[in-house]
Amino acid sequence: MKAVFFNGSTAELIDARKPRPRRGEVLIRVDMAGICATDLMILQGYMAFNGILGHEFIGTVVSSEKSELVDKRITGEIFVPCRKCAACRSGNKKHCPKRTVIGIDGRDGAFAEFLTLPEDNLHLIPDSLSDEAAVFVELAAAACEMPLRVPFEKKSRVVVLGDGRLAAMAAQVVSLESDDVLVLGLNTGKLEAFRSLGIKTWEVTKKSKLLGTFDIAVDCTGKPNGLPLAAELVRPQGTIVLKSTYQGSLGWNPAPIVVNELVLIGSRCGPFETAIQLLDSGKVKTKPFLTAVYKLGDWENAIRRARRSESFKVAMLP
Ligand SMILES: [Zn+2]
Ligand SMILES: [Zn+2]
Repeated sequence: MKAVFFNGSTAELIDARKPRPRRGEVLIRVDMAGICATDLMILQGYMAFNGILGHEFIGTVVSSEKSELVDKRITGEIFVPCRKCAACRSGNKKHCPKRTVIGIDGRDGAFAEFLTLPEDNLHLIPDSLSDEAAVFVELAAAACEMPLRVPFEKKSRVVVLGDGRLAAMAAQVVSLESDDVLVLGLNTGKLEAFRSLGIKTWEVTKKSKLLGTFDIAVDCTGKPNGLPLAAELVRPQGTIVLKSTYQGSLGWNPAPIVVNELVLIGSRCGPFETAIQLLDSGKVKTKPFLTAVYKLGDWENAIRRARRSESFKVAMLP
């Protein structure tokens, strides 16, 4: 099968062996895969990953011990826990220290024609949800994690930092919780896409009027300057939700967090079922945010496109 394999320093399209499912696993034919900022970082050495890239996907079950799963359209949670450690036994599988993660850590991913996953990881995709929208499930789920951890109120004044694909999901999910949501970004063309959905936007170059005015800031910039900016934007005793991961370190004095008694919440992956419902009901929209779809054989151009600052989500077909 065709697959985009990363050897730790370079990636190439290879003819890989079709994966064989282990006990409890299913074989999945990939129907569409999404390129994520994490993939772009892995290509630059983040996570020291070695294997087939890709963790955002929609697929069809080809074989399974459970016959009712065969031919079903699915997506899958990206973490494969060990199921034995203390974290797993206490139900906190997401924090299993021995977990593997498809396309990120110790497990082959979805930039391929096929992949395997435990059947427990699967979520059915309703017929009414297109592949083009469903490819956003993992990203939307990451946004859906926030309301579980952060006390958003209707009257909360919320700023979402960043104008990329994660900000697109986060702004819409947060808008279901709070009536006053503003997206602060750089790229005027991308901000226009947010406004097409009725979301207020502001250019970061004009941020001075906004300093200290928000109850909650959500950092989706994916850049080291996101957290210092968030600390400037929230009021004393406000909350910062940190969703950015990036390579490199943050050379910043965190005194504003202490002096202003800010609450800092790290937030990662979230509930797939909630994300699927929000996408299927149209409460979270994806149309303005799918920039382009490439063939897997054209993966280099797809990656190049995903890196461009004016791009949102770029997807690939096997
Ligand atoms: Zn991702
Ligand atoms: Zn475990």
